[in-house]
Amino acid sequence: MASNNVAQFATELKMPADLLLTQLRSAGVEKSSASDPLSKDDKDKLLEHLRRTHGAAGQQEKKKITVTRKETNEIKQADASGKTRTIQVEVRKKRTFVQRDDLPATTTPAPAAPVVDEAENARREEEIRNQAELIARQEAELREKQERLARLDAEKEAQAKATAAAEAEAKRHADAEAAKAAADKAAADKAGARDAQKQADTEAADKKRAADAEEAKKKAEAATKEAAERAEATEKARKAVADEVAQIKAMMAQPRRVIKAPEPAPAPVKPAAPAGTLHKPADKKPGTTTATTDKKDDKKPGDRKSIKSANVSSTWSDDAKKRGAPGGGKGRPGPSAPTSRDGWRAGGGRGGRGRNSHHDDRETNFQAPTEAIVREVHVPETITVAELAHKMAVKASEVIKQLMKLGQMCTINQVLDQETAMILVEEMGHKAFAAAEDDPEALLADQGEQTHYEATARAPVVTVMGHVDHGKTSLLDYIRRAKVASGEAGGITQHIGAYHVDTPRGMITFLDTPGHEAFTAMRARGAKATDIVILVVAADDGVMPQTKEAIAHAKAAGVPLVVAINKIDKPGGNLERVTQELITEGVVPEEYGGEAPFVPVSAKTGQGIDTLLENVLLQAEVLELKAPVAAPARGLVVEARLDKGRGPVATILVQSGTLKRGDVVLAGSSFGRVRAMLDENGKAVAEAGPSIPVEIQGLTEVPAAGEEVMVMADERKAREIGLFRQGKFRDVKLAKQQAAKLENLFDSMGEGEVKNVPLIVKTDVQGSQEALVGSLQKLSTSEVRVQIVHAAVGGITESDVNLATASKAVIIGFNARADAQARKLAEANGVDIRYYNIIYDAIEEVKAAMSGMLAPEKREHITGQVEIRQVILVSKVGAIAGCLVTDGVVKRASSVRLLRNNIVVWTGEIDSLKRFKDDAKEVRAGLECGLSLKNYNEIQVGDTLEVFEIQEVARTL
Ligand code: GDP
Repeated sequence: MASNNVAQFATELKMPADLLLTQLRSAGVEKSSASDPLSKDDKDKLLEHLRRTHGAAGQQEKKKITVTRKETNEIKQADASGKTRTIQVEVRKKRTFVQRDDLPATTTPAPAAPVVDEAENARREEEIRNQAELIARQEAELREKQERLARLDAEKEAQAKATAAAEAEAKRHADAEAAKAAADKAAADKAGARDAQKQADTEAADKKRAADAEEAKKKAEAATKEAAERAEATEKARKAVADEVAQIKAMMAQPRRVIKAPEPAPAPVKPAAPAGTLHKPADKKPGTTTATTDKKDDKKPGDRKSIKSANVSSTWSDDAKKRGAPGGGKGRPGPSAPTSRDGWRAGGGRGGRGRNSHHDDRETNFQAPTEAIVREVHVPETITVAELAHKMAVKASEVIKQLMKLGQMCTINQVLDQETAMILVEEMGHKAFAAAEDDPEALLADQGEQTHYEATARAPVVTVMGHVDHGKTSLLDYIRRAKVASGEAGGITQHIGAYHVDTPRGMITFLDTPGHEAFTAMRARGAKATDIVILVVAADDGVMPQTKEAIAHAKAAGVPLVVAINKIDKPGGNLERVTQELITEGVVPEEYGGEAPFVPVSAKTGQGIDTLLENVLLQAEVLELKAPVAAPARGLVVEARLDKGRGPVATILVQSGTLKRGDVVLAGSSFGRVRAMLDENGKAVAEAGPSIPVEIQGLTEVPAAGEEVMVMADERKAREIGLFRQGKFRDVKLAKQQAAKLENLFDSMGEGEVKNVPLIVKTDVQGSQEALVGSLQKLSTSEVRVQIVHAAVGGITESDVNLATASKAVIIGFNARADAQARKLAEANGVDIRYYNIIYDAIEEVKAAMSGMLAPEKREHITGQVEIRQVILVSKVGAIAGCLVTDGVVKRASSVRLLRNNIVVWTGEIDSLKRFKDDAKEVRAGLECGLSLKNYNEIQVGDTLEVFEIQEVARTL
């Protein structure tokens, strides 16, 4: 409702009617009482008036934005009694941004006088006094110079006069002489007759007079010259003095710097400081709005207007706050303070004294505040105070001071833990990052930069794999015997885990650790030692489970295969059948258009071995293996052991570069200097190039097989990294390396480009394996591919877990279980093993995982393991098993699975559980018990019972 009298309008505005009346009156609307009618015009007038009086201020208000920011940190601090306390630290920051440029200087409110401490004021006053004195001195000098100039002028005049007088005198003198001579002559002439003597006398007198006149003239001339010279000198002196005076005048005419005690003004005359100085002068004005404005804002030095601009002053207070209020000296630049490469060194510790130390005499003492340098400090697990100070580019004493403030008394050499160091770094206004710099991997990455070394061809490294008793060892032995250093026949061959052979076509290095366990164990550690795999298949036996495994491992590693069909000397071998079986496994011979050469060999007679080696070298040629030779060595630990006499010895396969005796090596967490180096024949060697295996001594510890070896430039660094790796980092890294889990499969899929779901399937029988693998493979879509890394019948072994770790696969056990070692390894490596007994469940779960919708699930929690020691058949009751609880606990109400050779035979419940003759609720590990199974009697001695409970697990992301 529109209000139509004063009283109503007042109520509408929620203000007293009297006040409104006064306002109306001052706006020129004459109303005497609250009941007077009020028109729209009157209201407009009032509005206009109010705008006039308050408008400017109001507008200005709008252009000012104040941002308040609050940060809460927690500091963990041990007090005197050693208890850890958590201290909440709240940091509040307030910044006011004022829109600049369009503000008339007059309307800007005076900035709040910044707090300047006493010493600061005193200094500034002193400065002003000095300046005044200097000016006074200059003025006095000028006065003196001017006086001297006047004196010189007067002197010159006097000289000029003197010269003129001298000239006049000389002239007069000469004239007079001449006149006298003439008169004399005339007199003589008049005398007429005179004797010769007299004439002679006269002549002589004449001559004398002439000479006199000549002399006088000369004198006058000299005097004139002298006077001129003197005048010239005087002129020069005068000019010099005049120049000087002009200079001084010019100097004094120049705008003098204005030193206003509290108001900061950027230095007016100082040009940019020479490059290389730590601090740049304030050619950058403090920022008002954003960093970009900062940069653009390049006002000329000495531009008084800009200096006096209220913006500068008003923002100064912000900046002052930022650099630690000078008064308090305790403020600290917030971690979010805009970074700038130049400016003063940051540090709340410096507080108000954080002034530019490169301060120039000609500059004002008070410099426009510059931005703090926020350094990115990488904090390793442990760091000494000195190192930390160095990283922040501050004095160690500053760090110690800051530590004291945090309640910690430290010396310069004291080692701080990462947490404390990071708090300190943040406290000093820098950004702290955990450990990335000393992260050995990061360090090794740039250490191992070998690209600038020329790479030359290197020998292939070969691993022999295959089923047990198919002749791997025989093959390796044969090659070694036949090819390795013929001279050592009969001598004791040193087994160092690897050897190399020279063939007419080139060199081949064999890893003398047959079997895929070693191969996969190395691969699980991320090491790739092998270039080519020789798959040994006995002609009389064909493809066997381990053959399949070997194929799976080689394929997962992407290593080409050369198939050696062994024992062809034996009757009963069927090459054709073996080839067919291998084709079924996906290993296609070259003559059938595949990639794997098939070579029939005999490890016993040596038949075909040369062809095999030739084929290996052919494959190697295709791979174009190259490595630099002149570089510092890098390689792998093939095997290592502790020798009684020699200490830790490790066989190292040099992969690139050259390893020399005396080199400092780092092998995983072990380090040391190569004291002695032996080749595979036990001969001492001085150096080893790419693809050459050597046994080294001198390491501090026994490294693990598969660890990466590298030569370090200095021993200290090697030790540092070695110790670092031995420490916490190892655990952290292991935790990070967590293998794939079905739950987070979808998340990890998103990270990679090709979405791949690697699975290892182990089943109870061939039928279920085929069914499960087939169904799982059908789940593949155009976006996500199910990759069966390995599928086989049988329990889950260590080898499977290793393969899973290496290929980041999830293991699916369909009615198949992991044995104790495999379980332990899986636990240690975080490999996800899933057990199913219904194909549909397995498929559903994998499907759900693929779409990222793994629903809350019922998960089995295995509570214990029971070993069946004895079986007693009791009529009517059935089979009673005498058991030992080997692991965990067995409860009366638990479900159990009967396992025979790690294959599930039966699943059901416990019927009765007894300790001696009494019923028991539960029996713990290490105790014996008797039990019977519900409706199942075919228990055998040696079976195991897996005791489990079903738990509902909500899926967590
Ligand atoms: P590995 O378990 O794969 O290392 O196999 P071995 O090298 O230990 O060999 C197993 C058995 O097969 C040994 O008794 C060898 O003598 C035999 N054997 C290996 N290669 C041949 C071969 O080429 N011909 C014959 N006849 N027997 C062989």
